[in-house]
Amino acid sequence: MVRAVQIRQHGGPEVLELVDLPVGEPGPGEIRIRHHAIGLNFIDVYFRTGLYAGALPMVPGGEGAGVIEAVGMGVTHLKVGDRAAYAGPQGSYCEARVLPATTVCKLPDAIPFDTGAAMMLKGLTAQYLLKKSRPVEGLEPGDFVLFHAAAGGVGLIACQWARALGFKLIGTAGSDEKCALALANGAAYAINYAKEDFAARVKEITGGQGVKVVYDSVGKDTWEGSLSCLRPFGLMVSFGNASGPVPPFAPGILGAKGSLYVTRQTLFTHMATRASTQAMADDLFDVVASGKVAIHIGQRHALADVQQAHRDLEARKTTGCTILTLP
Ligand code: NDP
Repeated sequence: MVRAVQIRQHGGPEVLELVDLPVGEPGPGEIRIRHHAIGLNFIDVYFRTGLYAGALPMVPGGEGAGVIEAVGMGVTHLKVGDRAAYAGPQGSYCEARVLPATTVCKLPDAIPFDTGAAMMLKGLTAQYLLKKSRPVEGLEPGDFVLFHAAAGGVGLIACQWARALGFKLIGTAGSDEKCALALANGAAYAINYAKEDFAARVKEITGGQGVKVVYDSVGKDTWEGSLSCLRPFGLMVSFGNASGPVPPFAPGILGAKGSLYVTRQTLFTHMATRASTQAMADDLFDVVASGKVAIHIGQRHALADVQQAHRDLEARKTTGCTILTLP
């Protein structure tokens, strides 16, 4: 039996219950990992509330790091005793779990478990956003991009990685303190969108031109303003719904605002194969191990304190990554 956090019905943080659950043996293509740390993500909130579908009862959580305890048939890239980390299917809020090995990667010795648990889902997201979600006109050093919630988990990684790639990242955040943090982590400009009209400010910063890409995980509240920040043929990358889902829209608006492109991206499409997962992870391990990207763990909670961790994340009280620790 292992300690785990389970949801039996959708709802607020109070539906997260600490329980004991059995953990089985890995089947073909699976591994069992004993967690040293677990990553918390805003996506976990969507599964908890029911915005994203998942069969109940469920153990939420899509990120963790620890030691491989057992390996199923056909798994060749991991062995018992390996340090490992993953972004994977829901089920990580527990001491140990079985999961498909495809998305589990060996963790380099230079990267501690808590960093590994904090960075896999968020860091691989920043990787595909900045490296694979490109506008048709391309993205060159010196180009402006706009990144919302820049002081969050994905946001602080993206600020640093964008700086390393030479992009001028304009970050938005909900307080002056968060803006200062985004700037300290590599954002070229920061806009407090609780106080300022971010679209007007982006136009000002870019000399009226607009940005080539907007990375928008805030959703409902920023959608319209984000479209107004793009230059002609610019790309709107929608990848989240922290303020609620983007409402249905008429494609005509894309023409009116300058023949824009829109895409809605999901990490797990990019991680569909072992090879693509490992290539993205190697890229992430490289920027972290070399110090180009530091993983900012802003909050640590014991697994048993998961309700408070969710409350703080939803109340916009967090910066950088949050991890759940184990005794
Ligand atoms: P964050 O740490 O970024 O937390 C979310 C942030 O969103 C908050 O801190 C807050 O920052 C901002 N926000 C704006 N409006 C609201 C609101 N109404 N309620 C709550 N927060 C709000 O979370 P993560 O780093 O875990 O994830 C960032 C986003 O990326 C999420 O939307 C997530 O769903 C998405 N995501 C998408 C993936 C994909 O592949 N599609 C994969 C991974 C993450 P502020 O106060 O500065 O506004």
